[in-house]
Amino acid sequence: MPTIADLAVLQELDTSLDEQRATLRHLDMRLADQGAYYEARVALQTSESHLRDLDSVQREAETRAEEVRSKLQAEERRLYDGSVVSSRELTTLQQEVANLQKQLRTREETLLAVMTQVEDVAGAHVAARARSQEAREQRQAEVAQLEERRTVVERAIGELEAKHRDAVGRIAADVLAVYEDLRRRRRGRAVVHIERGACGGCRVNLPGGVASQARSATAVARCPSCERFLAGG
Ligand SMILES: [Zn+2]
Repeated sequence: MPTIADLAVLQELDTSLDEQRATLRHLDMRLADQGAYYEARVALQTSESHLRDLDSVQREAETRAEEVRSKLQAEERRLYDGSVVSSRELTTLQQEVANLQKQLRTREETLLAVMTQVEDVAGAHVAARARSQEAREQRQAEVAQLEERRTVVERAIGELEAKHRDAVGRIAADVLAVYEDLRRRRRGRAVVHIERGACGGCRVNLPGGVASQARSATAVARCPSCERFLAGG
């Protein structure tokens, strides 16, 4: 087989390998990226800790209301059980009861506000849990799909690499060195086809001699401008 045909085969294999390896990198990036699932988990943890904080605020408010409530009950008992008889003491006690009633109202209002807040945050927490669960299921499905595609791509790369080894074995070392150098310098394409008398790589019009050389089976032609190997058009 003439060298240019071997080079063209090698080029096709390298192009396919470049594409498949790029796909593999892309799949690996998507496998590493937790994305939406990560965000949903962070949101769930945030609402969880918010809820915990509010729970302790609520317990504190309950204790504070209860303190005043029991104090008030004790004072009310003293007011009505006849143990206080002096009218001055009774007036003081009545004032004390009124003060405690006012204080209790304030503390109960605070407690109610906290309870309302707990309810809101608990609702948001339930929603965050549902979202996190949904995101987890979506992510599991996505990972399964990505891994399936990865297996297919890896198998394709393995097959292409075997063909690539054979193709490389058919090409002389000095030609191969030029080919690899061109691949590095010319964005992966060392072999191009002649298209309507022009280089398929850089589009420059080729002198007739170069074009006919490219068509012959024995010679290897290269573009005078970009130096790529030219396969007969
Ligand atoms: Zn060219």
